[in-house]
Amino acid sequence: MSLLEARRVRKVFGGGLWRRARVVALENFSLVFDEDTPSFTAVVGESGSGKTTLARLLLGLIEPTSGEVRFRGIPLRSLDRAGRRCFLREVQAVFQDPYEAYNPFYKVDHVLELPIRNFGLARDRRTARALIEEALAGVGLRVEETLGRYPHQLSGGQRQRIMVARALLLRPRILIADEPVSMVDASLRATILRSLLDLHRDHGVSVLYITHDLTTAYQVSHDIVVLYRGGVVEAGRVEAVVREPAHPYTRLLVGSIPLPRPDRPWRGERVLGQPAGLLPLGPRFCQFLDRCPFAMPICQQEVPPLFQLGSERAVACFLYRDQPVLSNDDLADLLCKRTATSN
Ligand code: SF4
Repeated sequence: MSLLEARRVRKVFGGGLWRRARVVALENFSLVFDEDTPSFTAVVGESGSGKTTLARLLLGLIEPTSGEVRFRGIPLRSLDRAGRRCFLREVQAVFQDPYEAYNPFYKVDHVLELPIRNFGLARDRRTARALIEEALAGVGLRVEETLGRYPHQLSGGQRQRIMVARALLLRPRILIADEPVSMVDASLRATILRSLLDLHRDHGVSVLYITHDLTTAYQVSHDIVVLYRGGVVEAGRVEAVVREPAHPYTRLLVGSIPLPRPDRPWRGERVLGQPAGLLPLGPRFCQFLDRCPFAMPICQQEVPPLFQLGSERAVACFLYRDQPVLSNDDLADLLCKRTATSN
């Protein structure tokens, strides 16, 4: 059974009273988190690819224009009070800028004490303190260097790790980490990513790691979903996708990073143009058309569906049109099932 799932989710921004241009932030997106088998999936893309929209949809912070996000089979908007409380506890988030999560007038202890109080996690102060100490230790922080201090007295890395510790306190089932290391030093990146991996391995938490950085996605995740202008262009096992990228856009991303494969350095294809913004509503064609060196007439006339490549992945590109077509729902189920069999 699925714990959290997005099914054919579409999000369009714009329109309204001010008649702003309508743009598609996310198109026909499906993803499943299994109830029993924790997963570690990276969602990778440039800015404007729909990554943050996806995080906000999964957290119930915004509603899809069409499609549904369901928690244990129930659409988020239909959850009753108990279901909503359960969702708020079991689905946690870590965001890009940890500073925004803190009130500068409160010591950092506050962000750790609040969930304990709100969810009744401890019967007295001593138990609460023990829980906090355990959570801090879980992310490699020492009590004496964190508690009793104000947010500005800690480094960005310490503040971010406290947010991971906060998530740990609630014993969540899913952690949605939206660019959690993009604002910290390279030296702290590994520590924070290790905290996420420990959360996944030791506590069975499913992690959705949203990032623009293919290198860290490759280092920590099992599966990867590559987004471009709100659509999935390639998805599958991270090893296969990064080592043998199939979609011209994934090749562009992979070509821009050094991979630990001295025997076969990837030199990249010549891919034209610059990162694109959100896709306006209107004529439909391949969203990568203006940057693609392999464009064909069909690419100007239709949106490529997902084509299945072996059992490992799917690619939305007409270069693979002799392969079987896969729906986005089928892809979500495929990734979910493979995680269950490989764990
Ligand atoms: Fe390039 Fe066509 Fe594939 Fe789009 S569908 S990525 S334009 S080859």
